[in-house]
Amino acid sequence: MLPKPIWLENGKVFLIDQTKLPGELCQLEITTAEQMWDAIKRLVVRGAPAIGLAAAFGVWLGAARRLEAGTLTADNFTAAVEEIGAYLDTARPTAVNLHWAVTRMQDVAVAQCAAAEDRITAAELVQGLYLECQRMLEEDIAACKAMGEYGADLLQNIPNFQAMLTHCNAGALATSMYGTALAPAYILQERQHPVAVYSDETRPLLQGARLTAWELSQSGIPVTTICDNMAGVVMAQQKVQAVVVGADRIAANGDTANKIGTYTVAVLAKEHGIPFYVVAPLSTVDFSLRDGSLIPIEQRKEEEIRQFNGRQTVPDGAMVFNPAFDVTPERYITAIITEKGVAYPPFAQNLEALRRGQPALQCDARSLQQQVLTAAQNMAKDGLSSGSFGNVSMVDREHDLLAITPSGVLYDQMKAEDICIVHMDGSEIAGVRNGYKPSSELPMHCAIYQARPDCSAIVHTHAAYCTAYGASGQALGAVISEMGMLVPGAIPLVPYCSPGSEELAQQTAEALREANGCLLANHGAVTVADTMERAYMLAQILEDGSRAACLAGQMGRVQEIPAKESAALFEKMKQYGR
Ligand SMILES: [Zn+2]
Repeated sequence: MLPKPIWLENGKVFLIDQTKLPGELCQLEITTAEQMWDAIKRLVVRGAPAIGLAAAFGVWLGAARRLEAGTLTADNFTAAVEEIGAYLDTARPTAVNLHWAVTRMQDVAVAQCAAAEDRITAAELVQGLYLECQRMLEEDIAACKAMGEYGADLLQNIPNFQAMLTHCNAGALATSMYGTALAPAYILQERQHPVAVYSDETRPLLQGARLTAWELSQSGIPVTTICDNMAGVVMAQQKVQAVVVGADRIAANGDTANKIGTYTVAVLAKEHGIPFYVVAPLSTVDFSLRDGSLIPIEQRKEEEIRQFNGRQTVPDGAMVFNPAFDVTPERYITAIITEKGVAYPPFAQNLEALRRGQPALQCDARSLQQQVLTAAQNMAKDGLSSGSFGNVSMVDREHDLLAITPSGVLYDQMKAEDICIVHMDGSEIAGVRNGYKPSSELPMHCAIYQARPDCSAIVHTHAAYCTAYGASGQALGAVISEMGMLVPGAIPLVPYCSPGSEELAQQTAEALREANGCLLANHGAVTVADTMERAYMLAQILEDGSRAACLAGQMGRVQEIPAKESAALFEKMKQYGR
């Protein structure tokens, strides 16, 4: 059964004493605000969402006891709630959710009195607080369930998914039910889909061993606890197919602060090609922080490291370093799963879209952006284009996305997030935008993708020999055998059209209907393929062929590969590298 850290039963509030886990399952009935303050202070209840709920219940309990004692009236109600809330707020002064929950209860108290005018009793007002607690509990359960559903969908889509690795405890014990990072596992269990969890013990306080392993074993999900330094071997031996963690705070760009050790796990996951998911409610995203370097990191007591199980393990002469959290850079994160949906990279745009209730990208556009960037930078390095000229794009047809180099940004200064993402028809995607405009040849790229449903990558160079040969107005026949990859026979030549024009777009798309490359008169070349690597290779071949033709032309007559052989090469080259 899924454990709950805090619950209501017949109008009573209960907590599991998490300080006694896993040795002892101790349920505490909490009847006063003072007891709740103590429970929060002593970490009987922990985890940001659970602390918030505990504080809200504490406010209600405080008011209910005053009502019983006869000291609460409709007139002093808001002042009393203000006072009880302020008191509870001091239990863990740094906990953001604690303050949020207390403020919400105080606001409800004020709103009730304002709405009811004089015709409401103190008992009815206290009942209103109780109903608000129930609502908060229901909201938290619903949010965790939604995160679990989104996460479970992702995990189910991983081929041969069997087990996930998690760090620390972001489970049911940290929330009302389901948790955040563990919610996908509980939902998979509900769906009767196989799931197992590897739980890092999480030094120095062992939340993974004590709490995660406890709650999963309670709920019947197979759990294996490992020391933190074993995550690498677990990944290398392919025992886990995903990493799922919670978050304490997420910067606007997706950099994520979580329990110390999370960063290490993320780097290992990337090395092993294992997706790394962060699960957290959207309220965890601090949109005021540009990146993770601005997240304050709490340093904790030395004793946590100096001692283990009551015995000294570090000599007095040694110093210790004990940060409570680390920040995982967004480049290691596959997706951030929130209650409003899944945010994929680029996170800055997609998290913002979720916040506004706009559609976010439903795939990782970062890999498209990275491939486009790499090709664009190679184009400059290999001398196929200079400055910011030429342009490169890729499409994800399944998700209707086109990634294209921006206009006017030098290749050597371009970053992956500068690559523009638009729909395949060239239209803007709501909420997804960076500081740059897409290349002015966007219409050409869109037209080519429409004409060539088999192609996913386009490279347009301003390469010197392609431009020179195209300017000669002569047909470029096959002069090197690799040109068999482009077309059987002569390379199509698009007559000069103004750059960026619709006319250039249409004529180029037409030229590439049957060919994988063409020359643009006075304007370089365009190549297409199903992968970026291949499209880029074709751009190099086209430049090599143009140079060979130019040089041979200087020497006299150009001997081309016979038409029949060229056609045979074209057929044969379809298998190249496959
Ligand atoms: Zn151009």
